[in-house]
Amino acid sequence: MRIDASVRFGPNTFAVLGGPCAVESREQLLVTARAVADAGAVMLRGGAYKPRTSPHSFQGLGERGLELLVEASRATGLPVVTEVLDVRQVELVASYADVLQIGARNMYNTPLLAAVGELGLPVLLKRSFAATVRELIAAAEYIAVRGNTRIVLCERGIRTFESSTRNTLDVAAIPVLKRETHLPVIVDPSHAAGRADLVAPLALAALAAGADGLIVEVHPNPAEARSDAEQSQSFAQFDAMMLQLATVAAALHRPMVPLHEEARVLPIAAPRRARAACAGSV
Ligand code: PEP
Ligand code: MN
Repeated sequence: MRIDASVRFGPNTFAVLGGPCAVESREQLLVTARAVADAGAVMLRGGAYKPRTSPHSFQGLGERGLELLVEASRATGLPVVTEVLDVRQVELVASYADVLQIGARNMYNTPLLAAVGELGLPVLLKRSFAATVRELIAAAEYIAVRGNTRIVLCERGIRTFESSTRNTLDVAAIPVLKRETHLPVIVDPSHAAGRADLVAPLALAALAAGADGLIVEVHPNPAEARSDAEQSQSFAQFDAMMLQLATVAAALHRPMVPLHEEARVLPIAAPRRARAACAGSV
């Protein structure tokens, strides 16, 4: 049984999702879930099925990882977002997750987009590292035309000639997406930066540019992380970033979304508006 997954994304608020890149163990996940919840995150992230560049890298714990996510969710009250890699996994992942993540590598996977479009679960759709904004919106349309308009868009950095960061955060995509759709837009500063020390500055830029929230990778011992170690924040880094964000959010009159108050009131996206906006944008 999943918990009530209602988390509000915008307008005029800011929601932070946090957790490890990958679920690695019960202890790692539970301690991280508690840390991000205490710091003010409103949703737990964690990959059970990992899309790794190399087949020799850790591929995730699979269904055991999903079980641990549900346990961490129950322990903290945080709903869970986790990635679905393949059409054949949709049913299984959907039976555990509160929000389904479509990763950058799968943004063009139209059968997968259609499959999650058939469900009632919200979808976190990440921009591919080589996709234009228009292509991201078209991918969202693939989900929406099947009837599922509870879509959150995510800018996570695009591939450019710049090599000082893993990707280049396309800050302009935030206001462009907000203008061209009525869908919530969040930013993943972890994959954009590829370096833990750059996550907070990019997060602050995302807030200032109008993003509705963030998804951030956090690990109890980043050096030991089995995936994305360099970009994973420690608990102390996450706490410090959350304090900075709260200050800027208050100055912008866009308070951080609390978990158990108004957060419960609204679904993840306003379906009618989202459908109209999405349909009108392509
Ligand atoms: C992730 O969120 O861990 C991930 C693999 O992200 P992306 O699909 O943006 O690379
Ligand atoms: Mn990752």
